[in-house]
Amino acid sequence: MAPSVRSTSTAPSVDPGRAPLTTLGGVGPALAETLGKLGLREVQDLWFHLPLRYEDRTRVVSIGDLRPGDHAQVEGTVDFVERGFRFRPQLKVIVSDDSGRALLLRFFHFRKSQVDQLPKGTRLLCFGEVRQGPQGLEMVHPQYQRIEVGEPVVVDERLTPVYPTTEGLGPRRLGSVIAKALAHLPADDRLELIPEDVGQPLGMASLRDALLYVHRPPPDVDLRQLELGTHPAQKRLAFEELLTQHLTLRRMRAAVKKRKSPALKSAGSLRDRLLASLPFALTKAQARVSTEVARDLSRPHPMLRLVQGDVGSGKTVVAALAAVAAVESGYQVALMAPTELLAEQHLRNFRAWLEPMGLEVEWLAGKVQGKARKSALARVADGSAHVVVGTHALMQEGVAFAKLGLVIVDEQHRFGVHQRLALRDKGAEGELIPHQLVLTATPIPRTLAMSAYADLDVSSIDELPPGRTPVQTVAISNERRYDVMERIHAACMEGRQVYWVCTLIEESEQLNAQAAEVAHAELVAGLPDLAVALIHGRMKPKEKQAVMDAFKRGEIAVLVATTVIEVGVDVPNASLMVIENSERLGLAQLHQLRGRVGRGSIASSCVLLYQTPLSRLAKERLQVMRETNDGFRIAEKDLELRGPGEVLGTRQTGQLQFRIADLSRDAHLMPDVQRVAEAMMRDHPARCERLIARWVGDAARYVDA
Ligand code: ADP
Ligand code: MG
Repeated sequence: MAPSVRSTSTAPSVDPGRAPLTTLGGVGPALAETLGKLGLREVQDLWFHLPLRYEDRTRVVSIGDLRPGDHAQVEGTVDFVERGFRFRPQLKVIVSDDSGRALLLRFFHFRKSQVDQLPKGTRLLCFGEVRQGPQGLEMVHPQYQRIEVGEPVVVDERLTPVYPTTEGLGPRRLGSVIAKALAHLPADDRLELIPEDVGQPLGMASLRDALLYVHRPPPDVDLRQLELGTHPAQKRLAFEELLTQHLTLRRMRAAVKKRKSPALKSAGSLRDRLLASLPFALTKAQARVSTEVARDLSRPHPMLRLVQGDVGSGKTVVAALAAVAAVESGYQVALMAPTELLAEQHLRNFRAWLEPMGLEVEWLAGKVQGKARKSALARVADGSAHVVVGTHALMQEGVAFAKLGLVIVDEQHRFGVHQRLALRDKGAEGELIPHQLVLTATPIPRTLAMSAYADLDVSSIDELPPGRTPVQTVAISNERRYDVMERIHAACMEGRQVYWVCTLIEESEQLNAQAAEVAHAELVAGLPDLAVALIHGRMKPKEKQAVMDAFKRGEIAVLVATTVIEVGVDVPNASLMVIENSERLGLAQLHQLRGRVGRGSIASSCVLLYQTPLSRLAKERLQVMRETNDGFRIAEKDLELRGPGEVLGTRQTGQLQFRIADLSRDAHLMPDVQRVAEAMMRDHPARCERLIARWVGDAARYVDA
């Protein structure tokens, strides 16, 4: 018989963390099922079910010191009780304390017995969030308990952790189950999965200490530090969570990389012809990135590459070079953009570049309907269309490709992660899956990219084509819009062209269009000797095109537009841009918009019109825009001001929902995370799996599917 390896190991055979919840005292099948709704199945899941925040019941706050927004504990005597019915049943209880100030407790769900227990003069200890009500400060549905006369008030010794919970599971019950699980927390050497030789040099807190600290902060805790999430214990956990997320993405990537794709090895004759036909030479950065892409394409495994480059860095031609390599190898290419206008711009570029070489570029946007759509689909299906350009519609069911070899997605940040994942399997009938190239104009701070895009390889076009002059940016109050109009007039007299961009908060393109119409009328009246035109998303594609063409030919001096021009518009002679209500836009959008000017050799400028008063954030944004044209700096600042979900546009997709890590706070950990991840994938693959099971659990299984 072969000797058992396991029996010689000194490691205990049972991992207390992997035990089912029902092994904990007091947890029966029903409670286990409820806990299962939170993804909690094993004892270790409870260890890693971390508090969302803490409640401070260690002291009693005087009612006179309460401020709206506080979560506070107060002790008071009932002065007044009223059971009313105004729209819905309501119980109002007024309490006051030694400060002489009163606090209204408001309940919408209550029983009669509850009311009977609250006669005037009852002493109550309440905890809740303080709000400004119509008659003063109030708490809605506070937690409370009665205190008998003469009985002393007992406050907690420690902060109370508040855990994410689910219906039918009260905070106390959940807290007590977690406390039970923590009693089984083993010593560090059995808990720690980050190998000592890699983790030690980082000098972090031990995992056991870190977990105990966040679940049960000691009485003398620095509450502010805890709330900011900067305590070493929180850092230790954030590190492990980021590490796990990174490993999960790397594992996904490894799984995709194992799959097969066509090796697109072309002799490069189409590439040479395309390069020869361009009126410019590639920048060094374009050439480098294009080589990286070509190398990926020539391999028999899927390319998963993100190309990031500032607005105007010339990503389109890099995409076109990849496309012709695929076509020359006998495969089709799909190119998708988030807006119709951007897709149309690509269509024009690709047709201008590829059709002279005898390639067919098909248009398949959502608006292509009926017969036109049918015949387009047929050409895609029989392979006579070499490149297919469109919007999201391309991803919809029903589009069958004859031989799809490469998918190019422009402006990735607007596509959700789920779409990115769905795409991977598009056209993956049979063995081979297409290569994937993602272009984004939103430079992502390096550390953030390391986390969010660990499933992709990243190339940066970090250089602009020569001859661009930086855009001068000024911020001007809307009260001075007539000065701005004079400035427009002067610029147009010198033969320059102008964008006037209207923005609204509303998502509705209809309201945006109306705002643009109003501005258009104003400018027509104010600048009678200039050709002023209007473009917005509610116009038909043909109309939009006609306006854009006239603007390109220089027949229009001032183009009033909604943010539809945010991406993809390219008119080098347009050298002045005015952005209305600029205080309402985020940095990324402002930067994108501004990227429409400064494309020629004329010195360009951008006027950010704003409405007063400016919020602190808006002021900071406008300041950043005035200071720099560097997309990477702007992205770093954006991350600082808005947080990673917004920067990546993935707030809704849930991809970046961490339990404890926060990328705007912890992104600086990423270089170490990446280093540790690499060492672990190389030397400790089994531990990687255990980390993923610990932090991601069920979700990891889902991601694999
Ligand atoms: P983006 O990266 O924003 O998509 P584009 O691909 O639209 O940028 O390129 C912006 C403009 O720069 C286009 O007019 C394009 O033809 C031009 N361009 C691209 N590469 C170069 C280059 N190497 N030299 C000069 N102009 C270039
Ligand atoms: Mg582009």
